[in-house]
Amino acid sequence: MTTSTVSPATPDTSAMAFDGRAFIGGQRVNARDGQTFDCLSPVDGRLLTQVARCGEADIDAAVAAGRAAFEDRRWAGKSPAQRKRVMLKFADLIQANAEVLALTETLDMGKPVKYSRAVDVNSAANCIRWYGEAVDKVYDEIAPTPDTALALITREPVGVVGVIVPWNYPMIMASWKIAPALAVGNSVVLKPSEKSPLTALKLAELALEAGIPPGVFNVVPGYGPEAGSPLALHMDVDCIAFTGSTRVGKQIHVMAGQSNLKRAWTELGGKSPNIVFADCPNLDLAVEAAVGSIFFNQGESCNAPSRLFVEASIKDAFLEKALKLVPQYQPGNPLDKSTVMGAIVDKVQMDTVLRYIASGRQEGAALLAGGEQARTDSGGYYVQPTIFDGVRPDMTIAREEIFGPVLSVLSFTDTAEVVRQANSSVYGLQAAVWTRDINKAHGVARALRAGTVHVNQYDEDDITVPFGGYKQSGVGRDKSLHAFDKYTETKTTWIRIDSPL
Ligand code: NAD
Repeated sequence: MTTSTVSPATPDTSAMAFDGRAFIGGQRVNARDGQTFDCLSPVDGRLLTQVARCGEADIDAAVAAGRAAFEDRRWAGKSPAQRKRVMLKFADLIQANAEVLALTETLDMGKPVKYSRAVDVNSAANCIRWYGEAVDKVYDEIAPTPDTALALITREPVGVVGVIVPWNYPMIMASWKIAPALAVGNSVVLKPSEKSPLTALKLAELALEAGIPPGVFNVVPGYGPEAGSPLALHMDVDCIAFTGSTRVGKQIHVMAGQSNLKRAWTELGGKSPNIVFADCPNLDLAVEAAVGSIFFNQGESCNAPSRLFVEASIKDAFLEKALKLVPQYQPGNPLDKSTVMGAIVDKVQMDTVLRYIASGRQEGAALLAGGEQARTDSGGYYVQPTIFDGVRPDMTIAREEIFGPVLSVLSFTDTAEVVRQANSSVYGLQAAVWTRDINKAHGVARALRAGTVHVNQYDEDDITVPFGGYKQSGVGRDKSLHAFDKYTETKTTWIRIDSPL
């Protein structure tokens, strides 16, 4: 399939076939020991394919392929303009395969095909295109030294980059890392989540077809402890770029320190506060953003505004409007083009979300909407859009990342107190403030300890701006030109100048 739109309304995917073998040295290969795992669809529980269950020997082979490619400079040695042309072709091939990639993403992790096509495929292609476009426009530096010498400050690729990503936006999370890493000439070994390995494998095929030489981009599916840990611990990996939970992110930093002190970059969890003041300039917009953003991607978004703080005087009006929007987010068949909320990635995650809902009830929050499993006859894993009112800051659902369609509503009366509560989290990924008072907007935005603060909106996002968090939301930033810093070493070259004058 090579068309660029998803059609018809609910496409028949029963004949789709998937190749779950690893991609090492430009070739599809089985795991060295022949092991596989079942790749099940959360849409309806069907078996999609068997996927290579890679382990240490496969990681060794992929790293060796990446190292050999880096050392002979088959990719790093190309000029930035040459790499740009290949990256642009890679992006074009993603777009040309948009329909199959979108359907694969939806079947593999459950998000509505409407969004896997319009958001995930487009964002991944755009990201690869953007870094390709950027790489021949970034200059190095000459330091302002005395004229007895010249000091060149240049950027060089770090070498072999290990990438470990989660399942919530498989193609987007991978592209945020592989695009800047490849653009500057590194080799990459990517370990996708065991819950969503299929599109990463397809991306590797497309990269090869675009002209990225064999060995430069390798994909090794498998479980975290079996495939992820050997990658993070590998003595011949120069940098590890991780997106996932804070729990595993901490282990990644330890593994980097335990092995070769590889550069470790982590994009981790969040529990983002969304603060709506009574002088919010557009209450309908604030309600739509609060509800739409927590239920988008089934709530499986690191930056979901999962803690909603509403000023007490407008809370009832706010919630009345919010509850009217909930029915449109009832989960549907993700393959149906009109569906806006799909399946939770697997039974384990669905049970986790349902456990958090049970804890909200037990700890005394008021369940206003949802709270139950949905589409129980589908064979898949679905949870109703859920809203809790009367949440206190000490409750589990106010503190821990749920990673599901659950909104916790808290109220406040005092600006300093709400900022204190908003910041009273181990996370610091994103935050929002809604007010028509420019002083309050700036003052609160400055006081919020978060990598991104939204004012009077929650949706803006662009490849041109950094993405990442304060505190335990991680170390480093994805996206924007800043991402090049993660995948390059900075070298100073001193040249003596004996002036003939
Ligand atoms: P996870 O930490 O369980 O897994 C992430 C990846 O790490 C997977 O590929 C997994 O196989 C691997 N892994 C697991 N154990 C490992 C180990 N011991 N050694 C090496 N690798 C290991 O996270 P998840 O459930 O896949 O993803 C959800 C989390 O990701 C949430 O916390 C979410 O907030 C976070 N996330 C953050 C961002 C961001 O940009 N900050 C973006 C998306 C998701």
